Amino acid sequence: MQTLISFLFFFSVLNSFSQEYSDRALKNKEYLNFRENLKSKIYAHKVSNNFFEANTSFTEKSEARGYIALTFDACEGRYNEELINFLISENIPATLFLTGKWIDKNPEITKKLAQNSLFEIENHGLKHRICALSGDKKYGLKKTKNIEEIIDEIELNNRKIEKLTGKRPFFYRPAGAYADEICLKTASFLSMEIAGYDSLAGDSFSKVSAKEMSENILKNAKHGMVVLMHLNHPERSEVQALKIAVPILRKKGFSFCHLEDFSLK
Ligand SMILES: [Zn+2]
Repeated sequence: MQTLISFLFFFSVLNSFSQEYSDRALKNKEYLNFRENLKSKIYAHKVSNNFFEANTSFTEKSEARGYIALTFDACEGRYNEELINFLISENIPATLFLTGKWIDKNPEITKKLAQNSLFEIENHGLKHRICALSGDKKYGLKKTKNIEEIIDEIELNNRKIEKLTGKRPFFYRPAGAYADEICLKTASFLSMEIAGYDSLAGDSFSKVSAKEMSENILKNAKHGMVVLMHLNHPERSEVQALKIAVPILRKKGFSFCHLEDFSLK
């Protein structure tokens, strides 16, 4: 039995490496040339290495009033299916930020989510690295080591997502929501907008209760608010928190929309 399990595991790992969405397949000659050209363009612009937290967002851009965007990051491999089922049952549109690491473990789920128009699929980085050459480590996450890794973090994951979903992402949310100006410039050359947030539900930490999370969401509720939560912690209390917060927000007159609905581009 043990041998069979090891064999199946080995086979599935091998299989994911040979897929057209694998990092290896995506790093083809065309991509490596593209990366070299982009690197020269970035070097040609004198960019400071100012390090910052991407904690503001695109509020008040949309003409429509009374909208809130719920966004969910899928950083590592697990999948909170109950959360997705809750969003579907309540008909709540949401924006999902997926890393390459998460996608490699959940390619079929990625395709399925993309087929549902309730969900907007965006980019949370290939390897979930802090997108910066300067600054300090944050939350124990590794940082990109050089410009090549910054480009891979954004563009290789764009290509992975496009291969699986047929749609190129428009927003990039750096891991830990930390980035520097070089990362920002790279994203702008790739015609992408950096996605920040206005409200942290607090589910990055395992001990936060559903009540605390719902209070965090409700306390600053306003038009254009971008809420950051997670899709990769089925053991945490996001669903319970939303079951408290959503009816209250709806009672106050708020509706939910995709992040792309807030952008003017
Ligand atoms: Zn993350």
